[in-house]
Amino acid sequence: MRDFSEDTSALALNTATLGHNLEGFGAGWSVERVIDACAAHGLGGIVFWRREIGTRAVEIGNRVRGAGMEVKGLCRTPYIVGSERPDTWHDQTLASIDMAAELGTDVLTIVTGGTEPGTKGVLETRKILAERLARVTDHAAASGVRLALEPLNPMFGGNRTCLMTVRDALDVCEMARSDALGIAVDVYHVWWDTTLRESCIAAGNRIIGYHLCDWLEHTSDMLLDRGMMGDGVADLRAIRGSVEAAGYKGACEVEIFSRDVWWKAEPDHVLSKIVERFKTVC
Ligand code: ZN
Repeated sequence: MRDFSEDTSALALNTATLGHNLEGFGAGWSVERVIDACAAHGLGGIVFWRREIGTRAVEIGNRVRGAGMEVKGLCRTPYIVGSERPDTWHDQTLASIDMAAELGTDVLTIVTGGTEPGTKGVLETRKILAERLARVTDHAAASGVRLALEPLNPMFGGNRTCLMTVRDALDVCEMARSDALGIAVDVYHVWWDTTLRESCIAAGNRIIGYHLCDWLEHTSDMLLDRGMMGDGVADLRAIRGSVEAAGYKGACEVEIFSRDVWWKAEPDHVLSKIVERFKTVC
């Protein structure tokens, strides 16, 4: 495994950690201020959300690289299946791929959306998902962007996802038959999965994202009470060992949705804590 005790070059901030993905939360820092702060704390990269980028993708990408970092990803496409899939999902997905390419990142995250209307369970939805993904993968491949399917904790089944495990995501990658498809492994969603290591090894170079946080023993909100690394019960070293056993050498992206704790903290304090925990417990 990689040794991060003195090396933060693989450490990336997902800006949701500072509350940027929801209106009214976080310190309200500009993108520029976030970039400067991440550089000052020695991070190697940043992952943005589409709503922060608007029409400034090229400018923001250049600013990140000018600060000595890289854009490590973009969140995310609209839902591609389920009752909350927008009518414009196809155009929005193509535009998201373009935005990722303009930012200069090769990873665009997909949260799939839930069970397709008129169906039950998840298997039929996964087939529909694979068919729809096949309509955007050529554009992704031509743009140098890979689409990272993110399996979610099973409690998000129904309305947010039809993929609950790395194995599920790998099955859909294989159904859609495109090298432009990969998988993002998020501690929050997979920490409970005792088959994770074998699934990651089976996925191999399909793993193109690794997201850090912790699962709090007494979590109070499914979505917005993620823990800081080291504060919960997830075996962070074992999970990273699983993704690295698959050959993953990419960014470790800190993604902490924490309405009542970290979104209320001063961003510089949050970044200091992230760096300290990254070096010691991740
Ligand atoms: Zn994630």
